[in-house]
Amino acid sequence: GMFIMHDLYIFKVAVIGDSLVGKTSIIQTFTSGGTQFSRSYSMTSDVILNSKDVFMPESKDSVQLLLYDSSGNSLYSDYLPKYWIGINAIFAVFDVTCERSFDSVKKWVMLARKVEESPLAESSGNITPLGLLYANKVDLEGRRKVSPERAKTLASQLGLAYFEGSAKSNIMIEEAFTYLANEFYKNS
Ligand code: GDP
Repeated sequence: GMFIMHDLYIFKVAVIGDSLVGKTSIIQTFTSGGTQFSRSYSMTSDVILNSKDVFMPESKDSVQLLLYDSSGNSLYSDYLPKYWIGINAIFAVFDVTCERSFDSVKKWVMLARKVEESPLAESSGNITPLGLLYANKVDLEGRRKVSPERAKTLASQLGLAYFEGSAKSNIMIEEAFTYLANEFYKNS
């Protein structure tokens, strides 16, 4: 038979947000689900790179998502993580039971976008990354502190798409990453 080449697009996503909001859990739920290939690499003690391929059914191309878990970083340091260079998307997370994690979202997003203007980013093309805001832990509905209305308002102020769900109960995880991969692919 005929051999047809399909393209592989590399897509870098920074998963950001306060400690304990569920970033690692979200990445694990996503990469361990389904049948598509995923891998995990330790880059340094506080950066884990996970990857998963998302298949584009119409074209049969693949988008390889490189997911950078930002656990070791403090919002209050001037240090901009080197692995943020050339990111194509921001996946901002907060915990619906934790008001403070919601208040931090804006700072995280500004920090990640600041990479574009920093010397670190000189060679990265300076394109504003795509982004979404993910409200995690909706399985804990009785302890919810941040309403969907407030979260949606913030997302639209920051120019982010909005999803809410749960890493624990696997709600809207695949959908959120697939949304980003599709948006990225459409614009590639
Ligand atoms: P990270 O520091 O942002 O990477 O957060 P982790 O993924 O380590 O999660 C922090 C804690 O929240 C852990 O105890 C997780 O089991 C818990 N957790 C993460 N996602 C959820 C969720 O959707 N629902 C609930 N109830 N707990 C969660």
